[in-house]
Amino acid sequence: MRPDLAILTMAGYLEARPRVGYFYTGKTGSQLLADKIKKIKVSDYQSIPVVVNENVSVYDAIVTMFLEDVGTLFVVDDDSLLVGVLSRKDLLRASIGKQELTSIPVNIIMTRMPNITFCEKDDLLIDVAQKLIEKQIDAMPVVKKTDKGYEVVGRITKTNMTKVLVALAKEDVL
Ligand code: ADP
Repeated sequence: MRPDLAILTMAGYLEARPRVGYFYTGKTGSQLLADKIKKIKVSDYQSIPVVVNENVSVYDAIVTMFLEDVGTLFVVDDDSLLVGVLSRKDLLRASIGKQELTSIPVNIIMTRMPNITFCEKDDLLIDVAQKLIEKQIDAMPVVKKTDKGYEVVGRITKTNMTKVLVALAKEDVL
């Protein structure tokens, strides 16, 4: 019976107290699942960011997006600090105009600071998911605050969220 009780304790259904013994926590399966989800941090699922300098051309940003196989590029200045975001549609919009794509720098068309939604590695992933929905965006940079500004250290996208769903279904989440 002890191994069974240990399993139920690990799963969160029971709690074990010295001199009291095992008792039911009162939590349902879905409450325990919610508890588990609310413990997942950004750093558990973040991907490697793809960044471009703010002076590169829209043409080069499109090439980078294809080569790196991402849907969102983060734009940095010469000090490698976050200054903007470029989505697929930002680049498409610029491409359907009669503009010379090789001569327009991305800082003309990007969404810029301070309007960037970002997160940090210790933030809860569920809060980030909520922000992606609210702001209707596909991705956000994971940043590290420095004295000079924000360094881009990672990327969280809707794909990362899909991976969490699959991991939860496979009971792969600690
Ligand atoms: P798409 O435009 O390809 O559908 P998004 O939905 O991610 O991709 O982007 C919608 C708009 O929001 C774009 O103009 C983009 O620059 C901007 N955007 C994307 N990500 C962010 C972010 N993290 N913070 C602020 N704006 C963003």
